[in-house]
This record gives sequence, structure tokens and C-alpha cells, in this order.
Amino acid sequence: MNRHHEVIASAITNLDLHDLARLTRTYDLPGCFIITPLRDQQEMTRQLLSHWRDGIGRELHPQRWQALERLRIVDDIEAARAEIVAEAGASPQLWATSASSASSTLSHRQARQLLRFSASRPATVHLLLLGTAWGLSSSVVEACDAVLEPICGASAYNHLSVRCAAAILVDRLVGREAGPRNGHEEMNTNSRP
Ligand code: SAM
Repeated sequence: MNRHHEVIASAITNLDLHDLARLTRTYDLPGCFIITPLRDQQEMTRQLLSHWRDGIGRELHPQRWQALERLRIVDDIEAARAEIVAEAGASPQLWATSASSASSTLSHRQARQLLRFSASRPATVHLLLLGTAWGLSSSVVEACDAVLEPICGASAYNHLSVRCAAAILVDRLVGREAGPRNGHEEMNTNSRP
């Protein structure tokens, strides 16, 4: 949506592509769909990706392509769903996200547990939807199977970028829990500065 709550298709930013690709690769997610019906935005994204796949970008920075190759450009959510069905053999559960708690139905803890439970059931896949501009349209949110609770910071200010929101949510949902079980040393809180 835009600031007037009109349904739009916003511009894709280079920063979003790189950050979301690196997040996807770091957490070994199967893929990140860049969803836009705008042909010029799709073409711009394909040109950028070709620079890192075939061009000087790959020579200078091969690791970046290992991340960018997980991006998939599709026209709409249904196209993303179709790709997932073709690959995973099952239609994904759609989870919407929003900074607003008005329509949230799933806590991060519940979502994490569901994903853990699904990990042993390959036919259960999930697609996490994030918006740009002023967020996902209400029609998209209403069509989803669940809406995750918002990320809450430490103040009433709540305007995370899509990159920051995605990173926080992915880590909460599938990131390793810190602590001695995972070989993380207990922080020595008594250390002198
Ligand atoms: N122009 C902005 C940017 O720089 O990315 C786009 C903001 S866009 C609305 C941010 C998206 O990230 C939202 O549509 C939502 O999917 C997610 N998001 C932002 N804040 C969030 C929060 N507090 N909790 C959950 N998701 C949030």
C-alpha cells in the first residue's frame, strides 16, 4: 500500500535485493521471492542479478552470487505459490507480517514451534510475506493463513525497514537459540571494562 492506503506496486531497491538474499543464504532458506507485476522492475532486477552471476561482480565477489542466486522474481503471490508447489509438492502456508498488531494471530514462539514441527513433515511448507512502501494490502493479509505478531522494540516508534524486519523475524523463527547448548560461551558479565 501507499501512504493513502491505495494498493500499489512499489519500487524494488538494490539494497533490499542484496540484504534479503544474504539473509536467505545465511539461514539457508530455500528462496526469497521478489514479487512485483512491474516489468521494468523485473527487468532491472534481472540485469542486476546478471552482473553478479556473469559479470565482473562474480569475479570480484563470488560469495555474493551464492546469496543472490536464491532470489526469484515473480509477478504475484500465486506465481510464488505455484513455484513452491512444483518444488515442494505442497502449497505453502502463507504468513503475513505487519507492524500493526490489529490482525495478528500467531506469536513468534508459536510460529517457531510450528516450523520445528513442520521440519519433520516435508509436505508442510511456509511462505513469509513482507511488504514494502506502507505495507501489505489488507486483501493480502486477509487471504493469508496467519498473521505474525508485530516485532516490538522499546518505544512506540515502529517503522522498521523490510530488511530489518525480515532479519529479526527469520532469526526468531529459525535462528539458533543462543546459550550453552549451542556452544555459545556464557557471557562473562563480571568482566571489567
Ligand atoms: N520503505 C520501507 C523500507 O525501507 O523497507 C518499507 C517498510 S515496509 C512497510 C516494512 C515491512 O516489514 C512491513 O510491510 C512488514 O512486512 C515488515 N515490518 C515492518 N515493521 C514490522 C514489525 N514491527 N513487525 C513485523 N513486521 C514488520
